[in-house]
Amino acid sequence: MNATLACIGGTAAYDLLQDGALVAKRLGAQDTPFGQSQPIYLCQSRFGEFLFLSRHGETGYEMVPTYVNYRANIYALKALGVRSIVSWSETRAISHNYRIGQYVIVDDLVDETVARPRSFFDSQGLGFVRQWPVFCPSLRQAFETTLGEEHCEFADRGVYVSVEGPRQETPAEVRKYASYGGELIGQTLAPEVFLAKELQLCYASLCYVAKYAETGSNSRPFEDGRILQEATEQKRSREAVERLPRILERLCDVLTRTPGICRCESSMAHHIASGQIGWDWRTWFDDVTPRVPPAQRTPVT
Ligand SMILES: [Zn+2]
Repeated sequence: MNATLACIGGTAAYDLLQDGALVAKRLGAQDTPFGQSQPIYLCQSRFGEFLFLSRHGETGYEMVPTYVNYRANIYALKALGVRSIVSWSETRAISHNYRIGQYVIVDDLVDETVARPRSFFDSQGLGFVRQWPVFCPSLRQAFETTLGEEHCEFADRGVYVSVEGPRQETPAEVRKYASYGGELIGQTLAPEVFLAKELQLCYASLCYVAKYAETGSNSRPFEDGRILQEATEQKRSREAVERLPRILERLCDVLTRTPGICRCESSMAHHIASGQIGWDWRTWFDDVTPRVPPAQRTPVT
């Protein structure tokens, strides 16, 4: 297997597995020190192989973002030889500078999640990782080239607010996020991007704008029984997802001619240089059992 690129698919991406749009061999769920990953697929394209993982489930939206095992998913991809991860995510736009159906290559993030493990290094005194650039600049450049060659409409920057969910935002929350510069709302890029950095992986996200965030108006009708509540929303999401296999195929080609300008592979170098961890990343997790801080240990009598 030669795949060094992986795609983590978000809402509706599982349809690509069900309808055969991705030509893929099922490698299955992978065991990791952090639990079991989602099933992983090896996909073939004209320009090379890549791995695919559906974040929310294999056959449908089976798991809300809070309960996705992000650590197992990222660890499993790293263990299979991946060096670059592409995240595919649906978003709601706060800023009306974005158009519905547009792609956005986000460049910054606000983490508003509250109930997810955020690091591989619980209680290990590690993970002091610089967060600029937040997303891999080489992968972001490759996205720009890919979307240009595929004649897709896109924006080359955006500030993504990662919220806990699964409920959607209130109008007051939207005003709060807008007040500190948030432009798009989603539920999955945090902690994924931070975990990828801890394993020295390149990670970038291609978002698509499925709708605008709630503002308190009555302009959007509510339809019972649907995750995406308007038929037009469902149609837009489906169309955006249907383009994904072609975009990934083109990305495989573009990456071979995109110069590497990132330092993602050395994001943990300071911890290695100080002797806190070794060069072999697999040894970093020989003991992942949470350690009890000294202050909480029972005194020996
Ligand atoms: Zn990189």
